[in-house]
Amino acid sequence: MSADELPAREAMEFDVVIVGAGPAGLAAAIRLKQLSPDATVVVVEKGSEVGAHILSGAVIDPGFAAGEVLFDASGAVTGIVTGDMGVARDGHHKDSFSRGMELRAKYTLFAEGARGSLTKVLEQRFGLKEGREPQKFGLGLKELWQVAPDKHHPGLVQHTLGWPLDNRTGGGSFLYHFDDRLVSVGFVVHLNYENPYLSPYEEFQRFKTHPLVRATFDGGKRLAYGARALTEGGWQSVPKLAFPGGALIGCAAGFMNVPRIKGSHNAILSGMLAAEDVAAALKAGRRNDELADYEAAWRSSAIGADLWKVRNAKPLWSRFGTALGIPLGGLDMWTNTAGFSLFGTLGHGKPDCATLKPAAQCTPIAYPKPDGSLTFDRLSSVFISNTNHEEDQPAHLKVADLALQKASEHDRYGGPSARYCPAGVYEWVEEGGSPRFVINAQNCVHCKTCDIKDPNQNITWVPPEGGGGPNYPNM
Ligand SMILES: Cc1cc2nc3c(=O)[nH]c(=O)nc-3n(C[C@H](O)[C@H](O)[C@H](O)COP(=O)(O)OP(=O)(O)OC[C@H]3O[C@@H](n4cnc5c(N)ncnc54)[C@H](O)[C@@H]3O)c2cc1C
Ligand code: SF4
Repeated sequence: MSADELPAREAMEFDVVIVGAGPAGLAAAIRLKQLSPDATVVVVEKGSEVGAHILSGAVIDPGFAAGEVLFDASGAVTGIVTGDMGVARDGHHKDSFSRGMELRAKYTLFAEGARGSLTKVLEQRFGLKEGREPQKFGLGLKELWQVAPDKHHPGLVQHTLGWPLDNRTGGGSFLYHFDDRLVSVGFVVHLNYENPYLSPYEEFQRFKTHPLVRATFDGGKRLAYGARALTEGGWQSVPKLAFPGGALIGCAAGFMNVPRIKGSHNAILSGMLAAEDVAAALKAGRRNDELADYEAAWRSSAIGADLWKVRNAKPLWSRFGTALGIPLGGLDMWTNTAGFSLFGTLGHGKPDCATLKPAAQCTPIAYPKPDGSLTFDRLSSVFISNTNHEEDQPAHLKVADLALQKASEHDRYGGPSARYCPAGVYEWVEEGGSPRFVINAQNCVHCKTCDIKDPNQNITWVPPEGGGGPNYPNM
């Protein structure tokens, strides 16, 4: 069926559409309803668990992804379109086919988190990144354990830097004891790493084997696993936030504080700040114009103060490695609290997609085999991330040029996708004497690393059919 023959989309009108029900999106929705109780607000969430987050007027079921942005004739954003459901892998419409819905709004807030797929479209269309440093990213991997009673120390928080990463590769761990014998253990690898043989997943597994850490897990049981990119560019990488008809909030804008691995507080604050501007605009009878006050306010807000102090921590770490970069970053943060910096504001250099060296210049890394009790393979991890996708649907990982993938990603860089993906989605399989790129899209945990790290920017992540993906109820 051609696009012209498709049934017309249903459309619904709201005052505000919010894309993403993370801390930023929910904070924006709550603040809006506090300030403008009569405003109609809808929150669209692609995950299966958070849904029905509509605060007035209408109900959207759990599991709808925003797949497209709507623009009017003047180019202003006027809402979003939810993805079609029931499209088969080969593109034909199954019996269950239903068209996506247009959700039209006076203002649309994009709260998709790090590397949002619609955020990328908006950044390009409105030139939001012009004059900014490239955004930087890390990949955060996390497991939830129930540990033996004698290993549990409620409230204990441990952070480490470096090991098992080498001095040139940024990253570190966190470990929190909480609730009933629960321990969250996680590891972040900065995605500006150079060696295409590096596997962030295997580095995380290796981290748990450190003598000071491994005893925590003796006699314990791993309950859940997840992985997600986080933003690391900070102050100098935050794009222009406002454009006609909407704004970016939370980690879609890149408000993460890197040294603390904390972003929820700024996500909430930015959601509230944007909501206050939207509420004022609605009260003044405005619509689909630029939220200029939000743009002007964030750098002088608590978010700006938080990010300004730590703005050189990541660039110093990248330039000087862990051993020297971390003390220099600490010194800079200390002088910044006294109101000055020896370094000014440092740039980040290359984007993360441009930092890999050709495989021929690097040494392969031999990772130990998982033991199945402390360390695990990727597929058993994906299993406990409760990842589920409708199998018969178009691939949501789009490779623009397969010949380029073979000539560059495989031949030149040694196929890093098979190692950077924390869910084992990508494989190069020998077939008839030549390598074939296999994409196990059903395993994808939506971390967005391929969209960030592919050396040719040849892979694009788009939302799969709504409701698909990981399910992290207790993470
Ligand atoms: C391993 C790890 C550990 C962390 N630890 C901490 C910590 O201890 N403390 C802290 O403060 N911060 C921490 N962070 C950072 C924190 O998670 C983020 O800063 C915060 O979640 C950002 O909130 P957000 O609302 O902007 O985005 P998110 O929380 O990422 O939420 C975005 C939401 O939008 C949805 N979405 C995305 N695209 C679409 C679409 N097109 N259509 C519909 N829905 C969509 C997603 O499913 C998601 O629910 C950690 C991050 C990681 C990866
Ligand atoms: S396919 Fe991409 S987004 Fe999905 S888990 Fe792998 S790296 Fe992450």
